[in-house]
Amino acid sequence: MISVHDHAGLNALARRCRVDPFLVRRFRTAFHKKQASAADALKELPAAALALFSREVDFHPLTLATRQDSQTDGATKLLFRTRSGELIESVILRIASGRTSLCVSTQAGCAAACAFCATGTLGLSRNLGAAEILDQVTQANLLLQPEGRQVRNLVFMGMGEPFHNEAELFRTLDLLAAPEGLHIDPRRMLVSTVGIPDAMVRAAKRFPRLRLALSLHSARPDVRERLIPVARRHPLGALREALLQVAALQGELPMIEYLLLREVNDTDADVLAVGEFLRGMKAHLNLIPYNAIHGPAPFDATPPTRRAEFAAALRERGFTVTTRYSLGADIAAACGQLARVTAGQTPAPPQPRPAPISAAA
Ligand code: SF4
Repeated sequence: MISVHDHAGLNALARRCRVDPFLVRRFRTAFHKKQASAADALKELPAAALALFSREVDFHPLTLATRQDSQTDGATKLLFRTRSGELIESVILRIASGRTSLCVSTQAGCAAACAFCATGTLGLSRNLGAAEILDQVTQANLLLQPEGRQVRNLVFMGMGEPFHNEAELFRTLDLLAAPEGLHIDPRRMLVSTVGIPDAMVRAAKRFPRLRLALSLHSARPDVRERLIPVARRHPLGALREALLQVAALQGELPMIEYLLLREVNDTDADVLAVGEFLRGMKAHLNLIPYNAIHGPAPFDATPPTRRAEFAAALRERGFTVTTRYSLGADIAAACGQLARVTAGQTPAPPQPRPAPISAAA
């Protein structure tokens, strides 16, 4: 089968049945840009080509298993089943401004095992292929069509560490930007990573307009390594160097994401460490309130008053600081909550509450 996103493969198929390239363009436009169903897009083709394309083109490698709509905000969590049986999640985010974003998964599960993240409790099942990542966008667009909406922005913050699936991620980004396909400007795509320095630099070189975000979460090595175990392989010095290289390549620093956990990474020592790590950089820090994961929460959220103090202390050091409030907390679709928990499923076992981490730098 040829993926509907494989433009070279579709061209070869079109040559095989000698179909007018103009009609193939109309088929692509209908499917990728006008959110037509596969059946409706195929109607753009003459009968002989329609039969061949129906047989040989793979439109949807994923099956939508469930859909959960938030009762409190504009989030919709989509649970998909892959052909090999893994369950993965995407989240539609209807932003108050009227824009629509989609948070996509790049892996089934995740090997990074971050201590605050529900997906991290699952382990890695496998990497997703580009067609599976792209089908999350296509199927979200089909669901959004009756609302007159279309996915405008993409955030790679769902299940998985995107740079642990670098080859398929890059293939996905190429296909998303292709004029024959969804044709999404890389400025409207954000890849968030826990910090794989070499891959960040490779991404910035290959996609100069792609937006990157670094989940820092602590600039104290011992704290960071407990929150993000893969940080042991990627020390802060290498991350700082990668940030500077990305800034030189793209003309801007990656966004710095910082999940606030009470008395773990929100102390005065943490402010000092962040200031030192980002010294000399025009950094934008995005503070993220902690969303509890299923079962007894392994952490507590930083109280709002301390969050405000933390933000003010960073602003005093010259950084831009904003707070990101996640949509979808009531349906376990907010940041760090994706863990394939649906009706009838057993949730992942809760993480043990970690021993207190010293506030000393
Ligand atoms: S935060 Fe991201 S990288 Fe870490 S375990 Fe969760 S999905 Fe994986």
